[in-house]
Amino acid sequence: MRRRLLGGAFLAGLGLIGLAQPLSAQSLRPYIDVHAHLFAVQARGIDDYSGAAQAAMRAMGELGALKMIVLPPPFPPDHPNSYDFEALLPIATRHPDKLAIMGGGGLLNPMLLDAVRAGQVSPTLRQRFTLAAESLAARPIVGYGEIAVEHFSLGNLHPHLSVPADHPLLLLLCDIAAKHNLPIDLHMEAIERPADLDSRYRSPPNPARLMPNIEALERLLAHNRATRILWAHAGWDNTGQRTAALTRRLLAAHPNLYISLKMGPDSLAVNRPFERGIGLDPEWATLLIDRSDRFLIGTDQFYVAPNSNRRFPQHPGSGRTLLDALPEDIARRIGIENPLRVFPRLRS
Ligand SMILES: [Zn+2]
Repeated sequence: MRRRLLGGAFLAGLGLIGLAQPLSAQSLRPYIDVHAHLFAVQARGIDDYSGAAQAAMRAMGELGALKMIVLPPPFPPDHPNSYDFEALLPIATRHPDKLAIMGGGGLLNPMLLDAVRAGQVSPTLRQRFTLAAESLAARPIVGYGEIAVEHFSLGNLHPHLSVPADHPLLLLLCDIAAKHNLPIDLHMEAIERPADLDSRYRSPPNPARLMPNIEALERLLAHNRATRILWAHAGWDNTGQRTAALTRRLLAAHPNLYISLKMGPDSLAVNRPFERGIGLDPEWATLLIDRSDRFLIGTDQFYVAPNSNRRFPQHPGSGRTLLDALPEDIARRIGIENPLRVFPRLRS
C-alpha cells in the first residue's frame, strides 16, 4: 500500500509530472523503455504511424511503462521503408506524456554507408552530415539513433550494415552530440576476436568471417568523454561474444558508456541476463547490481499498425520480466533514473 501511495509523489519527485500510471499498472514497477520502433507499413493503404503508436501505448499501459522512446531503425540508402523523425514527430507531439523520439536512423546511416563505400569522406559529404546532425538537434529529439556499426541481416528487407566504430563521421557525430547534450544509440554486434558467422545467419549478405570491432568501439568512446554512447541490445547476442565479462571491462574503462538491455529467443542462446524458466544469470545479475547506474531497458520491440501483416511485437514483456527479477532499488535505477540521466530532454 505504501509504495502505491508513493507512486505519484515518487514520479513528481523525478519531474515526471502527469505521468500517472493506469490503476491496473500501479502495482508494477514503473520504467521507461528507451528503444522501440513503430512499424507503420500496412498491407494496404498509407503508412499508419498513429495506429502503430496506439498499439505501443496499449502495451505500455499493460506493462507499466511510463514512457517509450521510439526511433527509426538503421536504414541503408534507398531502403523502401526508410523514414526518420519527421514521420514520428506528429505522434510524439500528440502524446508528449507517453512517447519521445530519436532521430538519425533514416537520415544519418545512409550517409555513413555512402562514406564507407566511397572509402573516404568528401568535404561535401562531411558538410551534409554535419547539417543533418545539427538540424536533428534543433528538433524535439531526445537522442541520435539508431546508428548501426555492425547490424546483421535477419531476413528479407532487413539489411546487413557495417561501419567502422571509429569512422570519422561517427567521431564527428560524437562532438555534435556532446555539444547538444544528446546521447547516441548504437547497434553493434560484439566481435572481440575473429570468428566465423554462426550458421543460423545467412551469408551473404552477412560476412562469413567476423573481424574484431571492440578496439574501434573503445576509440569511439575515448574520442569525446562528454558524449554518452548507449550500446543497445545487451542480452540479445548474435556472435556469442557479448559476455558479461566484456561488458564489465568496457564499463570500467569508459565512464560515458551506457548499455540498454534486450531479451528475446531470436538471438543465440548465450549471454542472456535472464532466461525464462531459469531466472537471472548470476554473472549478469552481479554486474547489473555492481553497475546499476549504467544499464537501461531497451526492448527493441516493433509496434505495428492495425492492418499490418507483421506479427509484432514478439516479446513486449521482456523488460518487465527482467525488472521484476531485480531488487527494487536496482529496478528503479535501471527503469527510471538512468533513462532520465542519459536522456535529459526526457524531462522537458
Ligand atoms: Zn532497434
